[in-house]
Amino acid sequence: MSSTLLSRRDLAFLLHDWLDVTRLAERPRYAEHSRETFDDVLDLAARVAAEHFAPHNRAADSTEPTFDGRRVHTIPQVKAALDVFAQTGLLAASLDESIGGMQLPHVVSAACFAWFQAANVGTAAYPFLTLGNANLLLTHGSAEQIDTWVRPMVEGRFFGTMCLSEPQAGSSLADITTRAEPQDDGTYRLVGTKMWISGGDHELAENIVHLVLARIPGGPPGVKGISLFIVPKVLLDAGGALGPRNDVVLVGLNHKMGYRGTTNTLLNFGEGVHRPYGRGGAVGYLVGQPHQGLAQMFHMMNEARIGVGAGATALGYTGYLKSLAYARQRPQGRPIADKDPTAPQVPIVAHPDVRRMLLAQKSYVEGALALVLYCGQLLDEEKTAPAEADRGRAHLLLDMLTPIAKSWPSQWCLAANDLAIQVHGGYGYTRDYDVEQHWRDNRLNPIHEGTHGIQALDLLGRKATMQGGAGLALLLETIRATVARAWKTEGEAAELAGQLGAAVDRIAVVTRRLWGTGDPELALANASVYLEAVGHVVIAWMWLEQLLAVEALGSAEGAEGDFLAGKRQAARYFFRYELPRTGPQFDLLESLDRTTLDSQESWF
Ligand SMILES: Cc1cc2nc3c(=O)[nH]c(=O)nc-3n(C[C@H](O)[C@H](O)[C@H](O)COP(=O)(O)OP(=O)(O)OC[C@H]3O[C@@H](n4cnc5c(N)ncnc54)[C@H](O)[C@@H]3O)c2cc1C
Repeated sequence: MSSTLLSRRDLAFLLHDWLDVTRLAERPRYAEHSRETFDDVLDLAARVAAEHFAPHNRAADSTEPTFDGRRVHTIPQVKAALDVFAQTGLLAASLDESIGGMQLPHVVSAACFAWFQAANVGTAAYPFLTLGNANLLLTHGSAEQIDTWVRPMVEGRFFGTMCLSEPQAGSSLADITTRAEPQDDGTYRLVGTKMWISGGDHELAENIVHLVLARIPGGPPGVKGISLFIVPKVLLDAGGALGPRNDVVLVGLNHKMGYRGTTNTLLNFGEGVHRPYGRGGAVGYLVGQPHQGLAQMFHMMNEARIGVGAGATALGYTGYLKSLAYARQRPQGRPIADKDPTAPQVPIVAHPDVRRMLLAQKSYVEGALALVLYCGQLLDEEKTAPAEADRGRAHLLLDMLTPIAKSWPSQWCLAANDLAIQVHGGYGYTRDYDVEQHWRDNRLNPIHEGTHGIQALDLLGRKATMQGGAGLALLLETIRATVARAWKTEGEAAELAGQLGAAVDRIAVVTRRLWGTGDPELALANASVYLEAVGHVVIAWMWLEQLLAVEALGSAEGAEGDFLAGKRQAARYFFRYELPRTGPQFDLLESLDRTTLDSQESWF
């Protein structure tokens, strides 16, 4: 039976038929790999996700973690699944062999990880956070810090967190107040409160390695005075064995709408509840140089944000497949052309409006998956392309695409989950079916790792203007190259190319118009509309790319023929129903509309 988590055929299409990831195995970093090893690890991920993560997805949601004032309790299936995950070695799939990794291309490890995000995003969040933490330390930590903290994380013994947010500082990290006082022995003592910390406390691992943003007194104000610290829950002795409790205390768990299997915590650092080495204050170890904390975090932001986009995509994808399975077996009503009440009812998939909802979902989730895998491949290009110019190009394009890869799936794969509920009718509104949980889980994604509005400001305010507009120019040039390839074909891709080419031209005109005002407040007033319009053009590009890959495969019979026909139809759907949405959005932007800017607070 085919999976309702993700489509193995679609992944093979995207990775092999479209992106041709096997060519990466020609590069020294991936020389140990081949199409076979890529496929084996994908199969492993699919199997472990289905057997160990999916079965407790609902239970982890309905029996959320509790805190009895001393300890956090989670259902036992979470730890059991994470132990199996650790044994697979998948946490370190993309990491260097020298640290115990598999040295897989990022694009392949992202595809593997998507299985876990589709199966059980709450349990998958623990390794996801741990990997983000490990990656940051591998890039910015000292050799000793890597040995002490990253190795146990790679082995699955320690888990990691990211502690940025505070109760009064979420989007505006310039306003964090956690303090780190330098000590004579080179360590620091941290005092402050961190809010929303995912995986901030639990008993799923021997230790928790918090990566904490804090200010060293006397440093510059704002983001330039933020430093990064390792603050473990349990300190280690000289031999690396677990020692005294650090002064990090769980104040309480947040009770969330979704992602309920992941503990989410309010943590106090340095309250004096624990007194490591005789006094209060959370012991912390500086990572890199003082005042570089935010830059270090941002270094890893691309990867984390694409990971959020991938999670949103996976949740949308599984919702789509489940609503498709439901639509195929739910009998209801009869065709418009044949209303004979004595004839058997048809499954709802026979109704055009249900097919519309399925096509919409398919076009969103398969378009989003193409984008996050494309970005995954850019990460590989950035790291391993033989020519320096290509590495630079990949870096710039990835920088440009990151806010879109984070936000577009978070908005539209959530919309897909909404449609999956609708396909289920009243049953979709109950907790007897999975789709309502997928929607609740996915609702987080436009909020964390930079809200939708913050991504919009990043895209229009920073990325579209960086290096004198070089990032935007590169994005438009890259899309135009696809348009030019499509023109040359005899097929349907050539018909759609003109529509995409015109949309790309509008991005260029509208961006110039917005910034031509010389007034950043006016330019950025409708940044979210810009993010959404450009996002739709980028996904249309992903669909034209997929259509070209389909046309290159030629025709086929049976299931393969249906797969290719489905791809063509979803591409058509996106170009006919979705891309035209951008016309009025670009019109609004071009008119320099002031409605939001001129609204007065007292008018609401
Ligand atoms: C379940 C969950 C898990 C999380 N996990 C972590 C974690 O592990 N580690 C961590 O550090 N944080 C974590 N976060 C925090 C998350 O990153 C923040 O919630 C997010 O950055 C938004 O901050 P805020 O909640 O303070 O909202 P605010 O910053 O107060 O924003 C509220 C609204 O105002 C808008 N807004 C704010 N500033 C601007 C502006 N300048 N221009 C335009 N609009 C603006 C926002 O877009 C948003 O719509 C998590 C949050 C949740 C809910």
